[in-house]
Amino acid sequence: MSSAGYGLNPQHVTRKEVDIMDTNINSTTLSLVKGDITQQDTEAIVNAANSRLAGGGGVDGAIHRAGGPGIMEECRKIGGCPTGSAVITTGGNLKARYVIHAVGPVYRDGKGKEKKLLESTYRNSLEIAIEKGIKSISFPSISTGAYGYPIKEASKIALCTIIDFIKANKELDIIRFVLFSESDLKVYEESLGKVKGEG
Ligand code: ADP
Repeated sequence: MSSAGYGLNPQHVTRKEVDIMDTNINSTTLSLVKGDITQQDTEAIVNAANSRLAGGGGVDGAIHRAGGPGIMEECRKIGGCPTGSAVITTGGNLKARYVIHAVGPVYRDGKGKEKKLLESTYRNSLEIAIEKGIKSISFPSISTGAYGYPIKEASKIALCTIIDFIKANKELDIIRFVLFSESDLKVYEESLGKVKGEG
């Protein structure tokens, strides 16, 4: 923990009946909240997409349902996206102006490239956001649903990657993790505590 301003002072606040944990890192606020990614008012939300950008269940289905058919039309034109990478479309009818479609790895046994691919999924999403001048972004817990990544491990990888990124890049004001259940939120809170301890 060398850089000045890397002030990690997590604050538990209850706002609008949702549990929020805020941590300030350099000029970025990293928040953990329980909620629905489709309802977020950040400039961009991230979709846990598949490599064909074909829609599906979970986050993907919810985003296309809430955002309308325009998002899928844009996805069809883009055609696809390799695992570990991300592409951007507009947000259709969503509050968010953009959707960043990020393709996380399918978890097999953790002995392959899963970790590297999950790291690059988060990093590429953040890089696209910066290229577009986006200041606020919401992430779901990528790969921990249908793709089977154990959430304890995935949450540490996600948080480490994001913290490393915001230590090196000051452009983003808000990065929000939107966890779908109380138990997922708890896992992320615990992982954030551990990751900061190692920081
Ligand atoms: P993946 O295929 O990358 O595993 P999923 O969409 O199946 O992605 O699941 C990723 C995580 O997102 C899971 O923890 C799931 O519970 C959660 N999730 C599902 N729907 C939503 C939603 N509307 N908002 C936020 N998180 C969601």
